[in-house]
Amino acid sequence: GYEGILRRQSLRESAARTYARSLPIVPVRARGLTIEGADGRRYLDCLSGAGTLALGHNHPVVLEAIKKVIDSGAPLHVLDLATPVKDAFTTELFATLPGRLADDARIQFCGPAGTDAVEAALKLVRTATGRSGVLAFTGAYHGMTAGALDASGGAPDVRVTRLPYPQDFRCPFGVGGERGAELGARWTENLLDDPKSGARTPAAMILEPVQGEGGVIPAPDAWMRRMRQITEERGIPLIADEVQTGVGRTGSFWAVEHSGVVPDVMVLSKAIGGSLPLAVVVYRSALDAWEPGAHAGTFRGNQLAMAAGAATLAYVRENRLAERAATLGARMLACLQGLAATHPCIGDVRGRGLMIGVELVDPDAEITDAAGAAVPPPAPALAVAVQRACLDRGLIVELGGRHSAVVRLLPPLTLTDEQAGAVLDRFADALTAAER
Ligand code: PMP
Repeated sequence: GYEGILRRQSLRESAARTYARSLPIVPVRARGLTIEGADGRRYLDCLSGAGTLALGHNHPVVLEAIKKVIDSGAPLHVLDLATPVKDAFTTELFATLPGRLADDARIQFCGPAGTDAVEAALKLVRTATGRSGVLAFTGAYHGMTAGALDASGGAPDVRVTRLPYPQDFRCPFGVGGERGAELGARWTENLLDDPKSGARTPAAMILEPVQGEGGVIPAPDAWMRRMRQITEERGIPLIADEVQTGVGRTGSFWAVEHSGVVPDVMVLSKAIGGSLPLAVVVYRSALDAWEPGAHAGTFRGNQLAMAAGAATLAYVRENRLAERAATLGARMLACLQGLAATHPCIGDVRGRGLMIGVELVDPDAEITDAAGAAVPPPAPALAVAVQRACLDRGLIVELGGRHSAVVRLLPPLTLTDEQAGAVLDRFADALTAAER
């Protein structure tokens, strides 16, 4: 039974297991926003497979697309060979690409995870430029393989130069918003132009338009444009990691569209596979410097994932779910900001579209921020208590942020008004209970 499964798992699985630790449930059925556990309990799932399920669990169009491939007798595994399924996926994906990428992109199938696509992107720009350094940002998350981990800051390596990512709250410069963004841009320029910095001609800059794991921090549009300008002027390829922000999540199909920035390379995974593993890199054809066979991998042609992904991309486009995410996300953000008036433990509410973060603080304590101002410190223990109180009320949320004090909401883009209300009610209730 349910308890036995949890016990055996905790004994047999690696100590590194993650979600299973903070969310001790045993899902056996799921549809849309709802997961049903082996104990018969139902949960509203605002983790959505870490942002993977743009259409929620088991959406009929996704299931239909998968069944169609199975029923057709098509091979499920064909390495990277051309197939009708792959052709349909690529066509649908290219129709969504921003700016000049729509007409001038190449695609590299990687696989099967986001981190594989990050590796491929880093390798590609190193080959194309003949340079090795990479500029990445504080608080970034790009994956768990060595190169991606370097860029995330988890495995320090001299090849990665870390730049401050702008923040609205407790900004490393002590100032939030546009002014912090401009200071960050100047910092970047100074570093790149300083002959002694060792970062003068990197192979690329990699950034998340909204940091997800880093605590749901949207980059200001002006900062994004400055980063594009800085990299363009110096011939540095700009890689946008849209693994988590893509496919409508932030209120536009790709998050770079908010600022109008067109990157040279985009790293895509999660939602593009419609809940199955799929990861690709798309990039300007001028960067296609690879020799045949320079980047290989056995699992680059998952037919089911491409079929599920094509169906998801088409559904999001046809039903304008990015616009829906923008309007519903803005309403949810406003409600949560309202909640802060009566809950002093809410230090900050931020996000874009249906990628929302609530940073929890200890209102009775004080720390000094980078600018010397007294601010309440992050409250990771409270965040854990809120996550558990949410679970007790049938709501699944994830934590993130540099101090693990940010509650993250990543509901499916198909969320109804009524469901959004239920999510907010349960969250408010959990907050009140955990605060005591
Ligand atoms: N990039 C970003 C922005 C991510 O959020 C993640 C995963 N959370 C990854 C890369 C890595 O993807 P994966 O876990 O599939 O390797």
